[in-house]
Parts: sequence; C-alpha cells; structure tokens
Amino acid sequence: MRRYAVLLMAGVLACTMLGAGDAASSENEKWQDLFDGKTLNGWVQRGGKAVYKVEDGCIVGQTVPKTPNSFLCTEKNFSNFILELDFKVDAGLNSGIQIRSESMKEYQNGRVHGYQVEIDPSARAWTGGIYDEGRRGWLKDLKDNEPARKAFKQSEWNHFRIECKGDTIKTWLNGVPAAELKDSMTPTGFIGLQVHANNSPTPLSIRWRNIRLQELDGQSDAGKKTALKALIIDGQNNHNWKGTTPVLKKLLEETGLFQVEVATTPGNKPPLDGFKPDFAKYDVIVLNYNGADWPQETEKAFVEYMRNGGGLVIYHAADNPFPKWTEFNEMIGVGGWGGRNEKSGPMVRWRDGKAVLDNSPGPGGTHGPQHEFQVVIRDPNHPITAGLPEKWMHVSDELYSKMRGPARNMTVLATAYADPAKNGTGENEPMLITLQYGKGRVFHTMLGHNVPQLACVGFIVTFQRGTEWAATGKVTQTKVPDDFPTADRVSLRK
Ligand code: ZN
Repeated sequence: MRRYAVLLMAGVLACTMLGAGDAASSENEKWQDLFDGKTLNGWVQRGGKAVYKVEDGCIVGQTVPKTPNSFLCTEKNFSNFILELDFKVDAGLNSGIQIRSESMKEYQNGRVHGYQVEIDPSARAWTGGIYDEGRRGWLKDLKDNEPARKAFKQSEWNHFRIECKGDTIKTWLNGVPAAELKDSMTPTGFIGLQVHANNSPTPLSIRWRNIRLQELDGQSDAGKKTALKALIIDGQNNHNWKGTTPVLKKLLEETGLFQVEVATTPGNKPPLDGFKPDFAKYDVIVLNYNGADWPQETEKAFVEYMRNGGGLVIYHAADNPFPKWTEFNEMIGVGGWGGRNEKSGPMVRWRDGKAVLDNSPGPGGTHGPQHEFQVVIRDPNHPITAGLPEKWMHVSDELYSKMRGPARNMTVLATAYADPAKNGTGENEPMLITLQYGKGRVFHTMLGHNVPQLACVGFIVTFQRGTEWAATGKVTQTKVPDDFPTADRVSLRK
C-alpha cells in the first residue's frame, strides 16, 4: 500500500518534469521487488498442487506426489524487463522460471505455457537454458555452453539474471552468459516459479529469494518504431568534446533511429571512481573520450558488454586513450599516441590492393597539418560503404597515420593517401575500419578533428551508417544523399 503511494507520486513528478508524453525515461527504470519477503501477495498458484510457502525471507516450493507441474505466478504481466533472483534447489528436483507465460482456458484448459528459464540440477546441468513449457520444448539448451554448465552450484544459492527485450531473451547464471534466444512468439506474460512434478515420497524443495525486476522501455510492440539507444561518452579529451558531442548527438537523432544520451566523466583527472555507466542499457556506445583510465570495474563491465554483443563507435581521438588496456586496443584495432610503439602492434597499410601489416618500429600515431584529402573506399560491399562513391573529397582535417595496435578481426573500409608533400607517410592509411570483438561490433572512424570537420557529408553519412551498423549489424540508411562529396569536391552541411 505504502509503496504504491510512492510510485504514484514518482509518476506525477515524472510527468511534471518531462511533460505528459514520454515518461519512459531512465529515471523510471527502477528495481521493484516481486516478493515482499513475508507473504505471497501478488502471486497466484496455477497448475498442480505443490506447496508454496514463505520461510526465512524465501519462497519455498515443495513437491507433492502425483500432481502435475505447479507454478506460482505473478498476477501482473511483464513484457520487457530485467529479472534477477537467487534460488537453491534440492539435487533431485527439476524447476524453472516462467517468463512471458500464459494460462488461458482456450489453450489446453488453462495449462501454464511459455518460455521457461530452466533450473536443472541433474548431471546434464542445463540451468539457464530456455525451454518452452507446454508448447515447443527446448529452444536453447546448454550443450555447447560448457562455462554456463559449470557455473551451476549444486545445493547452494545460485543467481539468475534474465533479460527480455523485444524479441531477445538472454540469461546469465552466476554472472556467466547462459542462453540467448531470438523469438517473438509471445511478447508478454506472467512470471512463474515452477515446482516440477515429482513423486518422491519425501518432499523435495526449492527456494527463491531476492526476486526483483526492472521494467525496460517497450520495444516489443510490432507496430512501434524501434528506437536504438546510444550513449555518447565524453568529458576528458584534448579535443573540443564540448563542441563535438552536441553535433554527434544531433547527427544520430536526425536519422530518426536513435535515442541518444550523454555520459560525461567527472572532473578532468583520475580517479574516476564514480564513473560507471550502465552499458547494457544501450545498443551502441559512441566514444568521444581521450582521458584518464576508467575504474577497473567499469573497464570490466565494458569488456563484458562488448563480448556479449555490444556496439562501439570510436570517433577520432577516442583511439588515443588507454594504451595499456589490452581489450580496448583489441576493440579499436589500431590506436595512436600515449606511448604506443612497435610493442603495441603493427601499422596497417593498404598496398597492392589489400591491407597489409607493417611491423617496422617507431611511434604509433602522427599527422601533418590539416588539409583536404581524398577518402578511397576499399570495401564497397560492407553495409556502411555500400553504394557510396568510390572516392570522395574530405574537408580539411588531420590525416591520422602510423596508427598501431593488435589489428585483429579488422576490416579496412576506406583509406586516405598521406601525401609526403603534407608531411605524410607516403602510405594509404586506414580511415574507416570495422572490427569484431566477441559478439560485439566496432566502427572506427579516424575523421572529424573538430566541429567544422563534422559538417562534411562524407563524415556524416559514414558516422550515421557506422553507428547503426555497430548497434545492429545492419544499415537501413541505404540512400546516398544528393549532397555527398565527389572525388574532387568537398561537400559541407550547415
Ligand atoms: Zn584531432
């Protein structure tokens, strides 16, 4: 009762502040407890007659012989959410967590059915796999996921994280990614705690506690346009981040595809203890940052985000920081300055129609004076470059050269010739690259030193397409604008 009132007030407050239209902002994404620790208020039992009771702040489910699968279900339905809970199960009992599940008279007389995140203490150890209860059976088992099978702790407390967003369901067991499923059969439904049918003469039990849920912005309505969530990170940079971030934000928003937020690091020196963005909330992170190392915990979270399929855009000087952070350098492929040298990895050069690695020694990262230069597309089949003119003249900018790094899982999309007459290396240096990092995607553009450079239509189009690709692996912005630069003429937008 009391919590209800507080929620209501928060709702009123949000409307006052944001206007009545879209109150689904991050401020509203708060954890709610589905179990109050004392009663089964808000829950209803369906299916079999297993016993559900509350004991020591836990919900306890206990088998009763000769009764079918039983479920303790939320009264409410949930669509897009993160659900977290702990559970402890007797070794001989199978169980699971129903999500987006249903029970209706017209389907097998009310049989509970739908997605179930498996709890499986048997030797097979598929806990965290996704089963379709009362419907299609296994959708995603853990045959090929040894780390997740090993993550299960027999007869101890285990922790689940379950994310449902649009057509994607992801599970983690004790922090280890267990299953990822794309399926759109049922976008909404209740959450249910299963006690599997079991005829053991001595009752077997399972306990659940700390059951909490965070609702996410709805992305499951088929008719609703999907907004990709982008986060620009800035705050420390020897470049004009205060000028460029608003332009980058505007460029993304004007595509109509993105909702953009900005995270600005505190202060201008280490330590950055308070800096801890919730990366998982975003489809893509745009890095406009060249500053102090992040806290270890934040670095770790970022690596996990990328390994699990995150998106990253490295914009110009964002390939300068973190020279010692191994995973970051793998993500960006090549970087410059910060003491980088041959120990950081090779340079990447375009020679004789292909990208080659150049191990000659020397510092990583240099550029001559700003000048106009031609960008040459080397991979016209990539979604980011498809249909663009092979060559286009870029506005006067720094031509990053001698960039060095691990250079693995990297595709060179476009290069520029660093003319010795402009203090250049005489090489075709990479300007636009993409990388695969775990399941994540990286788009890396070396272009765009300051605000005037962001007016180049070549920069704009590749940045907009590259960010969409990093977020989704696809590019829907296939039209080439009429004002795209030509091989010998720069084109700027006001
Ligand atoms: Zn610069």
